[in-house]
Amino acid sequence: MPRILEPGQIEARAGRPIARLRLPERGGPFAARARRLRHLGESGAPGEKIADYLNLMAALADAQALALPALAPPPPTTEQLKRSRTHGMPPLEAVSWRRPPEWRELALRLCASVAEVPGAPAAVGAVHEWLAVRSAAETEAQAQALLAGGHEEIEIAAAPFLMAALQMYWVALVSRLREEDVAPLEVPGVCPACGTAPVASVVRADARSEGYRYLHCALCAAEWHLVRVTCTQCQSTAGIAYHSIEGGSQAIRAESCEECRTYRKILYQEKDAQVEPVADDLASLALDLLMTEAGFHRGSGNPLLWQRP
Ligand code: FE
Ligand code: FE
Repeated sequence: MPRILEPGQIEARAGRPIARLRLPERGGPFAARARRLRHLGESGAPGEKIADYLNLMAALADAQALALPALAPPPPTTEQLKRSRTHGMPPLEAVSWRRPPEWRELALRLCASVAEVPGAPAAVGAVHEWLAVRSAAETEAQAQALLAGGHEEIEIAAAPFLMAALQMYWVALVSRLREEDVAPLEVPGVCPACGTAPVASVVRADARSEGYRYLHCALCAAEWHLVRVTCTQCQSTAGIAYHSIEGGSQAIRAESCEECRTYRKILYQEKDAQVEPVADDLASLALDLLMTEAGFHRGSGNPLLWQRP
């Protein structure tokens, strides 16, 4: 009698060792993200609000790519790495890591450079003014709420710029880790490097990871392996379904779970080699609408778009 294999067994049977972790490159994900945001913005219908927003976020990702090489935050010490390993904690846990205070200046600079882009809405200038007069304590409180996934206290318009600066610090830190510094966590639903929730997942098509699905960290862009047809929220393997927009892209679907009524989007590199988790998630708000109408809720938000729950 034929034996039915679980997804994990199928992958192991293929005889290839699965890279459990894909750390971000030193150069960061921002240049590719900017290209993808611009492409998606340009392929939207003219006058569409989301297209304008994608183009604005492309300018933000450009500014991130430009400023990243100058960042060299102090890495974790051997002692810190050892401690996090002993306690089964991410080595650069976002909510507890001591951020260098310069990140606040960087957020202000990112916002200023986007405000200067021709055609940028006046609202960006207003955000810059708002950020410029915040005290250090107020800005740090915003960061803490963003990193902890809080909602009430977050200033929605400023959030993408603050998040963009935080992303840069974490990419600079995490891209300098060695794979052995990042132990697998007991909770597979969050980033093993920084403890942040994933923005989406992606089925890779490159030689190293072909056919394997990775969750993509919304903060540090590290990716960690999770077998396919598994809920990214509660790890249930039953009641998983896939949804897409009729006539829409074949490269993106929403993966829903009947157990916890959560969904996250899943991208397929074999259908479109240029997919980028943050950009493609942001550009597919119609799919979010479809899922909300079907009674599912998002696992976690997009780092470039903050909404009240
Ligand atoms: Fe992370
Ligand atoms: Fe679930």
